[in-house]
Amino acid sequence: MYEFTYTTQASRVVFGAGSMNLIQQEVATLGARRALILCTPEQKAQAEVVSSLLGPSSAGVFDGAQMHVPIENARRAREHAKSVGADCAVAVGGGSTIGLGKAIALESSLPIIAIPTTYAGSEMTPIYGITEGGLKKTGRDAKVIPKTVLYDPELTIGLPVRLSIVSGLNAIAHAAEGLYAKDGNPVMSLMAEEGIRSLANGLRGVKENGKDKAARGECLYGAWLCGMVLGNVGMALHHKLCHTLGGTFNLPHAETHAIVLPHALAYNSTVADDAMERIARALSVKSAPDGLYELNEELGVPRGLREIGLNESDLDRACEVALANPYWNPRPIEQKPLRALLQRAWEGARPAA
Ligand code: NAD
Repeated sequence: MYEFTYTTQASRVVFGAGSMNLIQQEVATLGARRALILCTPEQKAQAEVVSSLLGPSSAGVFDGAQMHVPIENARRAREHAKSVGADCAVAVGGGSTIGLGKAIALESSLPIIAIPTTYAGSEMTPIYGITEGGLKKTGRDAKVIPKTVLYDPELTIGLPVRLSIVSGLNAIAHAAEGLYAKDGNPVMSLMAEEGIRSLANGLRGVKENGKDKAARGECLYGAWLCGMVLGNVGMALHHKLCHTLGGTFNLPHAETHAIVLPHALAYNSTVADDAMERIARALSVKSAPDGLYELNEELGVPRGLREIGLNESDLDRACEVALANPYWNPRPIEQKPLRALLQRAWEGARPAA
């Protein structure tokens, strides 16, 4: 029998090719008149298009978004928003730009509209991160959730195929762990299963042709669903391992997720039947861990952690760090099987329960 708590998030989602063109209307719907557009320097051209669509409702472009949201950038952006009299901010970009929008929302009452251009899913979560003195502090606060999100697949066409693939697999990891979360619920499970299915199909299409609009649409739809799962339920062993490996050994975030996920799922496979069934069904395979391992191969993702810069001599330390302050996990996290998991993930071997 089900037993759960489900809290909805108050955000408006407009999905569709060309939805960016609705920006002026969406700013007005929020009751705002002057929107500051946020972006990275690399995406300034896209942000300028949004600015011109806004016409007199644009307060200009701030192109200072950076990875991991340095506090100085957040302060500069807040000051800039004040100086141009902005009453709303539009974040055009991936997790870094949306993160800057969240940092502004945390300290002001400015409503944020997000126009995501990657599959990271930050726009659907109350999680924020700000880096100060070299340390990234993260927290949760409902007020950082963008009020409106415009998902326009056409804006993702320029995301390089390799980046698209790892970004999508990273999103799949959120949904997969959401399926056995302690605070999971049936609605999130529906979203997670559909998110995995859409992203797996869409990523195959994007690998064939990065300009395939239908495939891009499927990926972005999956990213929305996976972002919802990340924003609503807790993560477990897989995320702890990836944070450990990323934080301690500076491994690339999305690739690490893609490589570790089949192994983390294998670890939990004996205690999470429903999750495994749903993932396998989403991928049309018999075994969830094997299915994801094979999907990685098909999409050309590096097989093992050794291929992305981890030394074998680091594995004992990685295991130690992962065992310290572990996240909740459906199966107890124990040294011996965890060390074996890391060994297999490092070698690029098939996952084993
Ligand atoms: P990103 O935002 O850092 O973007 C990477 C680069 O790709 C940037 O130069 C960006 O301008 C460019 N880019 C993005 N979309 C593009 C497009 N369509 N075409 C061409 N170039 C494009 O990458 P990301 O993976 O989306 O975000 C990573 C950050 O987001 C990390 O700091 C991560 O911690 C954070 N994140 C936060 C949450 C959350 O819930 N708070 C969730 C996921 C990720």
